[in-house]
Amino acid sequence: MNSIFTKIINRELPANIVYEDDNVIAFLDINPVNPGHTLVVPKNEKSNMLESLEEDVINILKVVRTLAPAILKTVGADGFNLITNVGEGSGQTVFHTHFHIIPRFNNDGHKQWTVMEVTSDELNKIEKDIKSNI
Ligand code: AMP
Repeated sequence: MNSIFTKIINRELPANIVYEDDNVIAFLDINPVNPGHTLVVPKNEKSNMLESLEEDVINILKVVRTLAPAILKTVGADGFNLITNVGEGSGQTVFHTHFHIIPRFNNDGHKQWTVMEVTSDELNKIEKDIKSNI
């Protein structure tokens, strides 16, 4: 079954589309974190960015670099977060690759990540383990 985002691409569902080319579409998130919150989506439906073709991920990032300055200018933002969720544990709810461009404002009140305490031994072990898993 087609994802919600494929339905937007096919014009079966409405959306505020701000950019479109042969491979990528971008539209406003219906539940924005801040004004101008935009989703950048490859037309080729895959469940997340690890499943998408490398070429599609590159195309998305090219669009982000064009679109983000226009969004920031439009809403008067001071910066933005670029986020892609992969898997349920990350909070992903739509299983069609997408990158969020979330405009940020100085003192907008959104919390940054909380951090955990870690020892240098733990960091060293994780470094070693990641390298062995590549
Ligand atoms: P994620 O948690 O990364 O999977 O986020 C999915 C995002 O899609 C959420 O921020 C939703 O608000 C957004 N979303 C879901 N349905 C629509 C829709 N029909 N149009 C625009 N954005 C949507």
